[in-house]
Amino acid sequence: MRKVLLGKSGLEVSAVGFGGIPIQRIGQDEAVGVLRRALDLGVTFIDTATGYSDSQLKIGAAVKGRRDGLVLATKSGDPTRDGVLRDVERSRQQIGVDVIDLYQLHSVSDRGRWEKVSGPGGALEGLLEARDAGHVGHIGVTSHNLDLALEMIEHPAFETVQFPFNLVTSEPADELVPKVRELGLGFIVMKPLCGGQYDNARLAMKFLNGYPDLVAIPGIQRAEEIEEIVSLVESGEMLQGDEKAEAAAIVAELGKLFCRRCGYCQPCPQGVAITMAMTFEGAAKRMPREQLVKDWALRVARVPDLCVECGECEEKCPYDLPIIETIKRTGELARAMMDAV
Ligand code: SF4
Ligand code: SF4
Repeated sequence: MRKVLLGKSGLEVSAVGFGGIPIQRIGQDEAVGVLRRALDLGVTFIDTATGYSDSQLKIGAAVKGRRDGLVLATKSGDPTRDGVLRDVERSRQQIGVDVIDLYQLHSVSDRGRWEKVSGPGGALEGLLEARDAGHVGHIGVTSHNLDLALEMIEHPAFETVQFPFNLVTSEPADELVPKVRELGLGFIVMKPLCGGQYDNARLAMKFLNGYPDLVAIPGIQRAEEIEEIVSLVESGEMLQGDEKAEAAAIVAELGKLFCRRCGYCQPCPQGVAITMAMTFEGAAKRMPREQLVKDWALRVARVPDLCVECGECEEKCPYDLPIIETIKRTGELARAMMDAV
């Protein structure tokens, strides 16, 4: 498969990587089978996170004996030095490798969090120590906040940035992609298939074929999915003619309807976890139900009681999303899920 250089990290990876969220939903043997099928197709980049339950363990089982030539990436959401060092150790043990090639700060999407992770005793300090100790090869950051990402990538510690970029969420094309190129970083495309907002891999991957120096990491659960995506990327075909019109219609329909998790609407004066509630329906399609109920549902279920419909969040959302209506609906969904357990 075509290779892409992840900027100044010097890491060379397959143009399609393997996103490790959906394998949480399937059993170990099935996950290993899907991952190995991806490796057989020439995928050399696998990305996961400490927060994706047993994903690291399944990846560890799949890459056992096949480590050579792979670039393994994971991430930690712990904001502290000590916490991230513990996570690095856990990642090395669970994946079964001495060195994690790329370790990322997970979802740094608001300024308070950035100040914490980059300040004294913060996670970045821990990752730099892990890199000095040879436990981590390179350091990157992931985010959903465009303004913050534009600022964070100037930090000299980072060699990659992971950000949502797809047919529907194409805003990064204006400033973030050019700046990443200018700084010589690697761009890892989060949610290349539009975060499950629609099912057309053909149009989504043809859109991204227009950015051949970026690495897409679609979340994969079945062998047929990675087979289709690899073949679309290998074709190198871009959107043209009728497809452009088809894509424009999809963007018109979806573009103003789904949450980018940018966090601009927060904080809510009533303490509503707005982003979590806005993305709950999408998460319900990707995450295991038990994990969703354990980690998210309780907070989302409180939303209808907490929200006083002041409208502050809707004024701040740059995408004019109907936040109040959406979070009340997902609050009810969370309650129904909890009742059913
Ligand atoms: S409308 Fe509801 S969620 Fe939005 S800021 Fe007001 S209380 Fe918070
Ligand atoms: S609701 Fe709007 S402002 Fe809030 S996270 Fe989603 S897209 Fe961003």
